Amino acid sequence: MGDIIQLLPDSVANQIAAGEVIQRPASVIKELVENSVDAGADDIRIYIRDAGRTLIQVIDNGSGMTDTDARMAFERHATSKIRNASDLFSLHTMGFRGEALPSICAISHVEVRSRKAGSTMGTKLIINGSRVESQTPDLCDEGTNIMVKDLFFNVPARRKFLKSDKVELSNIMREFERLALVNPGLKMSIDTGGKTVELRKGSFHQRISDLWKGSLGSQLIPVEAETPEVKISGFITRPEFARRHNPLQYFFVNGRNMRHPYFHKAVTNCFNGLLAPDTMPCYFIKFDVNPSKIDVNIHPTKNEIKFEEEMLIWSILSAAVKGSLGKYSAVPSIDFTAETLPVEPVKTTGTQELPRIEIPADYNPFADAVSRQSRPQQDNYRATNRVPRNWETLYEGFLENPTSGVQSDGSNGNFGTVFEPGQKAPELPIDTPLSSTPGISIQYANKYIISCDSRGMLIIDQHRAHVKILFERLIQCFERTNPLSQQLLFPEPLHLSPAQEDALNETKDILRQLGLKISGKDGEYEITGVPPEFEDKSPVGIIQNVLDSVMEDSVNYGNETPEAIRARLQTAVTLSMARSMAIRKGRKLNEEEMESILAELFSLPDPALTPSGRRVFAIMDEGAIRRLLP
Ligand code: ADP
Ligand code: MG
Repeated sequence: MGDIIQLLPDSVANQIAAGEVIQRPASVIKELVENSVDAGADDIRIYIRDAGRTLIQVIDNGSGMTDTDARMAFERHATSKIRNASDLFSLHTMGFRGEALPSICAISHVEVRSRKAGSTMGTKLIINGSRVESQTPDLCDEGTNIMVKDLFFNVPARRKFLKSDKVELSNIMREFERLALVNPGLKMSIDTGGKTVELRKGSFHQRISDLWKGSLGSQLIPVEAETPEVKISGFITRPEFARRHNPLQYFFVNGRNMRHPYFHKAVTNCFNGLLAPDTMPCYFIKFDVNPSKIDVNIHPTKNEIKFEEEMLIWSILSAAVKGSLGKYSAVPSIDFTAETLPVEPVKTTGTQELPRIEIPADYNPFADAVSRQSRPQQDNYRATNRVPRNWETLYEGFLENPTSGVQSDGSNGNFGTVFEPGQKAPELPIDTPLSSTPGISIQYANKYIISCDSRGMLIIDQHRAHVKILFERLIQCFERTNPLSQQLLFPEPLHLSPAQEDALNETKDILRQLGLKISGKDGEYEITGVPPEFEDKSPVGIIQNVLDSVMEDSVNYGNETPEAIRARLQTAVTLSMARSMAIRKGRKLNEEEMESILAELFSLPDPALTPSGRRVFAIMDEGAIRRLLP
């Protein structure tokens, strides 16, 4: 039998390597911009068309390449940056494996123009799928200008794997944000066809403020530490500006973006007890370490990095973050040994507004099971917004037989299943009939409303209950022809990051239908109208949360139909808005607030589950209590 093993042709090997290095248009931008930075450029311009599918162009004013270097650059393992394996461990530059350009040219049409500083003539090189088509002298500017066209033209599987333009564009913008953060000293711009972002040279703080416009800059406090092992510098957000969704969290080591779950924990642990529930701090932290003490080569796209002295750096980082929280935070003095700290910033002015629920005087949500099922009455109910002072009368006629629901077998008549302590609670039927009224309510642990009805003791998650209520109110908006909107007396400025701006464009119609009026452009917007449900809540935080969560979600939009995407977006936006507005865990509630939550919750057709399917309340019946007290 003949020999069957052959060496792969370079073009094939390059295509395979490309799979590792180049996953999407954003990866091309990363590699090209890093090369420009390595070439000493201080002005880098990026042009994108069709989310990078048809064109990615990077123009720099760096060192440029000679004719021969330009040609060599596209050969496999060709690099000017390392000479031997030990160089791998002492790298200060970005790229280091000589793989990027050959990978890119294997899967696209590439056109390069480059001129070395001081040379009279530059060179122009055309390469199609690894094949050099031509090289000619060219009168180009000093520096390098690379055009990458028709990405993945010869790898249909890859092309198919690309997400929608919106998603790829948002990946590109996030890559741009990372690159811009690493290089605040460089002038950078990106033009995506629809919009342009231009960034001036400046400090790290200025770059962050320029990227995310406006308020973020003033929410940051510096973090600094310097020891022989590591220099740490950067910023964290004050705890009160922590976000619910998509917090901006960045680590950089020696000028390279990295992921580091362990250090992430170190930072977030410092915020323990300082954050409102479900919020996460932003951080932008740079590490400078001796390059020989890290291994950058453990991940093909080079963003997971191994530190030799991880434990030590952990404690230095942790001390630095705690130090600046103590020094700069709005909280006057922080006892880091304390287990818990107040989670809600203390409101100094004004009295707490009660959630208002309005019910027509003649409407009794519990009148009878049949009419409760009927939709028109529900709508009637939700269209209004206030609990009458005499809300108790709603429950009249339901108090005669307080134990009627409990059966002799210890289960409960309407419910069948009850919560067993120490055992996973069984699924609740979605449409839980309310057999009688909840009685007096108390709050437990500032998180739960405890009440009783004929089924037993109700333990209601206050946050989930309120999310459910708000979601049901807001979702009604999509049935209206004219959205209800409250004009703001003073428009609120809204600064958006490029990625948030993409999310805004994607959800404009939905937000309008919900009653939000937002106008502006280029990252600077203002809110002029809000849904009545916002009451006196600050709309800026809510909208930013919503946009951040849309960005998170959009990553999953694969091959769905436009209608399916729209329906999903609609639910996602509404749910995220309800979550942002809802009463949080940790908020003390007064009696009236608890009552109005219960009244509205139990008037809904399916109070048992949140829109995302989580349990709103549990029931502990007499049998369960008896088992607890045998
Ligand atoms: P690496 O960056 O790992 O060396 P690349 O394939 O990205 O590998 O680049 C190969 C070589 O091409 C680089 O080492 C550099 O010498 C040259 N090069 C690439 N881009 C530029 C640029 N924009 N300006 C000057 N030289 C460049
Ligand atoms: Mg490179």
